[in-house]
Amino acid sequence: MRISVPAETRPGETRVAATPETVKKLAAKHQILVQAGAGLAASVTDDAYVAAGAQIVPASEVWSAEVILKVRAPNAEERAQIKPGTVVIGMLNPFDADNNAAMAAAGLQAFALEAVPRITRAQSMDVLSSQANIAGYKAVMVAANLYQRFMPMLMTAAGTVKAARVLIMGVGVAGLQAIATAKRLGAVIEASDVRPPVKEQVESLGAKFIDVPYLTDEEKQIAQGVGGYARPMPADWMRRQSELVHERAKLADIIITTALIPGRPAPVLISEETVRAMKPGSVIVDLAVSQGGNCPLSELNKTVVKHGVHIVGEPDLATLVAADASALYARNVLDFLKLIIDKEDKLVIDREDEIIKATLLSSGGELLRK
Ligand code: NAD
Repeated sequence: MRISVPAETRPGETRVAATPETVKKLAAKHQILVQAGAGLAASVTDDAYVAAGAQIVPASEVWSAEVILKVRAPNAEERAQIKPGTVVIGMLNPFDADNNAAMAAAGLQAFALEAVPRITRAQSMDVLSSQANIAGYKAVMVAANLYQRFMPMLMTAAGTVKAARVLIMGVGVAGLQAIATAKRLGAVIEASDVRPPVKEQVESLGAKFIDVPYLTDEEKQIAQGVGGYARPMPADWMRRQSELVHERAKLADIIITTALIPGRPAPVLISEETVRAMKPGSVIVDLAVSQGGNCPLSELNKTVVKHGVHIVGEPDLATLVAADASALYARNVLDFLKLIIDKEDKLVIDREDEIIKATLLSSGGELLRK
């Protein structure tokens, strides 16, 4: 079977869907076509792919394979070059109804890896986790770079320097990694989330949990979320959270926000009033910016200074760690491929499989996710 790896064309995308490590495993049984220069932004040379068993091809030859491995959804021009029936695997943005419809109209068997269910068997294919982990780490690095003071407490002959105070809003995969990274750098950390199990996780990493009590059964029940994801909390709980967060934000030097609710705009957690109350020179990194942001002052793809606070609105921080982000993503893709390639190395798509059902956007011209 021919499996291809096109170069990503979306602006700012530096990752690549296969690495020499994963190509080597696939090339034993399949013909692997890698577009010339596909890995360069992730520091992978064409020579490294060739050494792993791939063939380097021009852009014109990359769309005719039976299976296409992508990071982002192919654009209209790319889609037009793909034959009906081709398997396309990537972070295809399953919440984009127009794109889903376009993939169906092109007759593609399109798999959106963001929709992999959160079950044990699918953990090794979970691209949201692998990329969020990297984004959480990089958010702390970006913040530390903009912050004009030390992260750890320092006692020197010239006097003592206080440790930075870091506030993490939303403690899923990215938030937990942000806590762990800030901790390694010596910061003092507080964190908030809606879901009850998070408190213990936050405390086990040596950070303080900002407890917003649940006052009604409804609040308690909504806070459980669905399938590991949060649901929008009632307005009264959000107001109480916001009051507490406002007080903690006044003391914070760095705030990293990661709060998301699947398929909905991100909840507003750091209001303009709170930004105004923060210390000059403090930093906010808003990882939810592409879903509208957890701070209304953050701007997509920009770092701005508002009320003396640096606000970073970089939507895909994992792209700034392109080599490792690609390495982990490529392993997710490889594990997904094992699900649809049988022992005879043929494509077998079991429509009854839970992971297939959740990720398959379109097949045979049929739109499976609206
Ligand atoms: P996410 O990216 O969807 O959201 C980030 C965090 O924001 C979540 O923790 C969410 O509860 C929080 N949030 C939402 N609204 C908020 C609000 N108003 N205030 C504060 N926080 C708010 O989450 P995620 O990183 O995908 O992880 C969600 C959970 O799923 C975690 O517990 C994670 O460990 C779990 N998970 C399980 C598996 C698996 O079982 N295979 C895989 C990945 C993640």
